[in-house]
Amino acid sequence: MDDFLIIGGGIAGASAGARLAELGRVTLLEAERALGYHASGRSAALFEQNYGPPPTVALSRASAAFFEAAGVLKPRGLMFVAGPDEDAALDRDIAAMELDEIGIDAARALVPVLDPARVTRAAWHRAAWDIDTDRLLQGFAREIRAAGAVVTGARAEAIWRIDGGWEVQTRDGSHTARVLVNAAGAWADDIARLAGIAPIGLTPKRRSMARVAAPEGHDPQSWPMVIGAGETWYMKPDAGALLISPADADPAEPHDAWADDMVLAQGIASWEAHVTTPVTRMIANWAGLRTFSPDGNPVIGPAPEDPGFLWCAGQGGYGFQIAPAASRLLADLAGGRAPQIDPATVAALDPARYP
Ligand SMILES: Cc1cc2nc3c(=O)[nH]c(=O)nc-3n(C[C@H](O)[C@H](O)[C@H](O)COP(=O)(O)OP(=O)(O)OC[C@H]3O[C@@H](n4cnc5c(N)ncnc54)[C@H](O)[C@@H]3O)c2cc1C
Repeated sequence: MDDFLIIGGGIAGASAGARLAELGRVTLLEAERALGYHASGRSAALFEQNYGPPPTVALSRASAAFFEAAGVLKPRGLMFVAGPDEDAALDRDIAAMELDEIGIDAARALVPVLDPARVTRAAWHRAAWDIDTDRLLQGFAREIRAAGAVVTGARAEAIWRIDGGWEVQTRDGSHTARVLVNAAGAWADDIARLAGIAPIGLTPKRRSMARVAAPEGHDPQSWPMVIGAGETWYMKPDAGALLISPADADPAEPHDAWADDMVLAQGIASWEAHVTTPVTRMIANWAGLRTFSPDGNPVIGPAPEDPGFLWCAGQGGYGFQIAPAASRLLADLAGGRAPQIDPATVAALDPARYP
């Protein structure tokens, strides 16, 4: 019998597995043929420590040292822009993200295509980074393999409580472990039900992305990410092209998400409304599910009714930037160590808040 059996091979399960491998033998089961096929393969890959509710901010800040040591960050910077009716929203963004307001000329020096006729205010800071998400995910998976196994194409189909642990059945056989870790992203409530554990009430929310050609005559590589005041749309440079999202958050059932053409068009129209150059060509598009618990905070720790069932779910729109500290917290709780993160954050993430 293994010590830990993890269901879900996205960033939550992979990072949890890497930290739990320090405590015992880990097997990670991923339903798809590759790790990171769902939300974790579809993100904007940003590390912005002030983004999200306070417990998320605490986890992100506590993750910074790990990211720096792992060498997976590249400077990006972050700018919010506002039109004439968006002062209140921009003021809230400036306060929440600790941005510096800059003049329109300074904003155009950073992103030359911004339209001074439409953008009336802008705010910016340097402290936002691109995360090399694939390198991070594969690095965690390597740590698991060194002390256990990563099994892809292994969908958990049935789960039983057995003497001293759990048995999980897949198409190709069954796996047993002392402790079960639920890192199934949008499917995490389904996994809880299979295991006879009360679901949290998670809501997957679709977020769509278009990858479009960079404006003619511009190299956007050094541009910051640009977000519409109130997070109504965003643009992020991506390897010589632009990612544009309508920042949608439409509730959905767990599924292999795809982008709706009309929703993508809204995002592209929002970007075009703030710049002097049209979008000429869509290269690709996709959507992913950002999964939230009812209070918007992740759910990390033992299920109240069974300490052998660990939740690692509800990562919302922050799963990458919180992964180092969230996985450390899970391992601290599993190993009976005092958590490194502050007690208020531990309590805000505790599954027992959903009895
Ligand atoms: C468009 C978009 C932009 C984003 N931008 C950012 C960003 O800039 N920064 C950031 O930090 N985060 C961002 N996020 C959020 C981030 O991507 C998610 O929080 C994170 O990927 C969630 O990881 P996860 O491991 O919980 O879920 P997933 O990556 O969805 O992994 C869950 C896995 O569980 C597997 N699974 C489900 N059921 C079973 C089963 N029965 N048996 C075995 N396996 C199963 C699934 O196949 C899946 O691979 C973004 C998300 C989207 C969609």
